[in-house]
Amino acid sequence: MYKEKRFFPLIVVFICSLIGYISVVAQENSNIFDKVVIDAGHGGNKPGAIGSKYKEKDVTLAVAIKLWKLINENLKSVKVYYTRVIDQDIDLYKRSSIANKLNADLFLSIHCNSATNKAAGGTETYAMGLGKTDRNLEVAKKENAEILTENNAIQNYEGFDMNSPESDILMSLYQNAYLNNSLDFAAKIQSQYQKNVPFKNRGVHQANFVVLWKAAMPAVLTEIGFISNPKEEEYIGSEYGQWVIASCIFRAICEYRNKVDNLQEPVMSIEQLIPADVKEKERIRKENERLQSELAAKQLSEDSVQKEVTSNTVTQNSMQNNMRANDSVQNIQKTGSEVVYRIQFMSSPSKIAPNDNRLSGLEDVFSYQDNGTWKYTAGIFATQKEALEYQKKIKEKYADAFVVAFHNGKRITIVEAQRLQRK
Ligand SMILES: [Zn+2]
Repeated sequence: MYKEKRFFPLIVVFICSLIGYISVVAQENSNIFDKVVIDAGHGGNKPGAIGSKYKEKDVTLAVAIKLWKLINENLKSVKVYYTRVIDQDIDLYKRSSIANKLNADLFLSIHCNSATNKAAGGTETYAMGLGKTDRNLEVAKKENAEILTENNAIQNYEGFDMNSPESDILMSLYQNAYLNNSLDFAAKIQSQYQKNVPFKNRGVHQANFVVLWKAAMPAVLTEIGFISNPKEEEYIGSEYGQWVIASCIFRAICEYRNKVDNLQEPVMSIEQLIPADVKEKERIRKENERLQSELAAKQLSEDSVQKEVTSNTVTQNSMQNNMRANDSVQNIQKTGSEVVYRIQFMSSPSKIAPNDNRLSGLEDVFSYQDNGTWKYTAGIFATQKEALEYQKKIKEKYADAFVVAFHNGKRITIVEAQRLQRK
């Protein structure tokens, strides 16, 4: 009993100093970079810009979720929050107020650009400030337009009028304290896009976005590409493209954190960040794309061989079915040279009907006009030796049959053919 009384004041002092110590640590911790809020633009009945396949609200959410995963898995000391994880309509002012309540260190709003000119493209990232060009203002106006459909907009946005220069100036003052850090983070995002996303880098800009307005921390709005540009829409709508973009933003966050906290932690590469199955699917997609363009190129060259054959008045006999015709062209292709041999077995002052008995039983029949006479050949061979073999067979019916040569569909002498083949 006596002992307990004597130690009681000491215990009180110990507990008090422990509380003091914890609060000092907590205070210090609040200064380190450890909270990020990700805002997927638009949502619910506010789809944002609409492409031919995708809607902005779905693309921004898909990228936001991937970025959330990347931070959660790879940056354990940073807590990541989001303004929405479902297809949900949230007033613009509420998005930054979520970040303010959490006392976040960074606020990032993800959006897609759009333009009436389908060729317009590229990525750009904005911090708050007076828009320096008409286009900056236009982008901000488009993103701010949502407040027109919000309830109580006049109270929530203090009578903000997007067409009034006074409103614009007042608005730009709010983020001033965080401007340098916001611009720095925006530049880091753009630099990552430039290295890893196959779009034009439109750079870092300033304009007044309602969604960033009252964020009490560095805040940026990133436009990840033009949904109105078919190529960019395909990319930002794809799993792979979204992983690349999320990885770019993730790397920018790591670099920014290293800078503000004076750290030198390694930053994972895009290659390390994208899931293996996504990379594998992309590899297969690219391989298919390559094969398809190769096939298209081959088709093109076959078409040109065909054209040349006809332009040299060597017309394909219509008695042959299409299959046979294709085979012949492929035979020419197979030889690797444009010199081919055929067996000429007959000539006629007029064109012979395809179903004429004299043409029956012959392979690869071709006819061409020479000095007003129709000449008929059979077979198509890459070498003279093969042609001579077939000639024996034709001679059974046409004793005068002889070997003729063609170069790119044009009749040439055998000597010339041999000379060309020796090359
Ligand atoms: Zn948007």
